[in-house]
Amino acid sequence: MKFYSTKGKNKLVPFREAVIKSLPEDNGLYFPESIPVLSPDFFSSLKSLTLPEIGIEVMKHFCNEDVPSNKLEEIMKDVLSFEIPLVKVTDHISSLELFHGPTYAFKDVGARFLARCLGYFNESDNRKVTILVATSGDTGGAVAAGFYKVPGVKVIILYPSGKVSELQEKQLTTLGENITALEIDGDFDDCQALVKTAFLDKVVNEKLALSSANSINIARWLPQSIYFYEAFKQLENPNNAVFAVPSGNYGNITAGMLAKKMGLPIHRFIAASNANDIIPRYIKNGTYEIKPTIATLSNAMDVSNPSNFPRMMELYHQDWEAIKKNIQGFTLDDHTTLQTMAECFKDHHYTLDPHGAIGYQSLKGSLDETEHGIFLETAHPCKFIDTVEQALNREVPLPDFVSDLMQKQNESIKLDKSFESFKNFLLD
Ligand SMILES: *Cc1c(COP(=O)(O)O)cnc(C)c1O
Repeated sequence: MKFYSTKGKNKLVPFREAVIKSLPEDNGLYFPESIPVLSPDFFSSLKSLTLPEIGIEVMKHFCNEDVPSNKLEEIMKDVLSFEIPLVKVTDHISSLELFHGPTYAFKDVGARFLARCLGYFNESDNRKVTILVATSGDTGGAVAAGFYKVPGVKVIILYPSGKVSELQEKQLTTLGENITALEIDGDFDDCQALVKTAFLDKVVNEKLALSSANSINIARWLPQSIYFYEAFKQLENPNNAVFAVPSGNYGNITAGMLAKKMGLPIHRFIAASNANDIIPRYIKNGTYEIKPTIATLSNAMDVSNPSNFPRMMELYHQDWEAIKKNIQGFTLDDHTTLQTMAECFKDHHYTLDPHGAIGYQSLKGSLDETEHGIFLETAHPCKFIDTVEQALNREVPLPDFVSDLMQKQNESIKLDKSFESFKNFLLD
């Protein structure tokens, strides 16, 4: 399997190169040259497969030229070493809990897969790789944990000052070793722009072997599709499954769309967004209009120009009508998000985080009686404890793993949002 750029299909690169480079020179996104359809045997035996077995079956088509099968098996067992349970919240709605990994949010799987792939590729390469990551919250922690102490890899994380939760900040700023956190005086889009500019900067690229761990990297993006198979495995009735995906950069939901193209019979998707509703607006009227980023309670989704949009277009052959048919948009403001969290707890004794809450609410108004809704619960509620307490109007005790982390020292470096400052830091 080779990969092309969404901006030009004539240059194909192998998996290894796409992972190491992260972004093609033309500033598009890597995309598989063809989408494999999994065998009927795989789907009929899904219920008897373990999570790593599903992961291997899905991922081997993309990386078998560069990652031998025994290595892929080792990587997948290591990456998928925690559960992804499907929990019934109401008769018609289930929560796919993606927060049982080391940093309590769904980005662990992609980040760990990327870290292990790069570590493996780096064994035969003596140039040190520098990973640049812009994070709106959870990516940073997942990447930091995924790469912590991986030999030959240095990680630089950029996060928007004052716009991530205290716990998220601790997760990305306290590790040390090969992990450096930069606190940028700007928003997530500024952080993302700095990373993009660095990749295109000649001087920086001569000095450093840059790679990215954002959801734009195919090694981050592709394994997210595994969640959707794992959900199907646990569904009592797999007919008419509707997936509501709380979305920011649209990596997770486009990975679900990929799973559908690979044969998983997903009925339809809901792109669940907060006030940063560019995709719901696009689905509605066919125009992609970027507006300034709005800060919300579901801050991991505060993205005004989602970087995976070109992949969505590619999956549906640039056809707005096709997108409209498969995906419904949904948007929820902060006030109603809090209400949703309170109601869900009161009625069903299920604690939602503010991101999952938007997914849950999007299903409530949308399912017909033949459908079963699954929302992706993308973070552990304790990652957004202030919001949870505000919504439930009572104190919620922090689990022990959080209290330990909160004691640690923040070691981030502050920078303004100019590329000059960032470049000087990189070249220093
Ligand atoms: C990253 C993140 C999202 C958004 O996922 P995308 O793949 O960027 O759309 C949603 N919820 C949480 C908790 C996240 O960390």
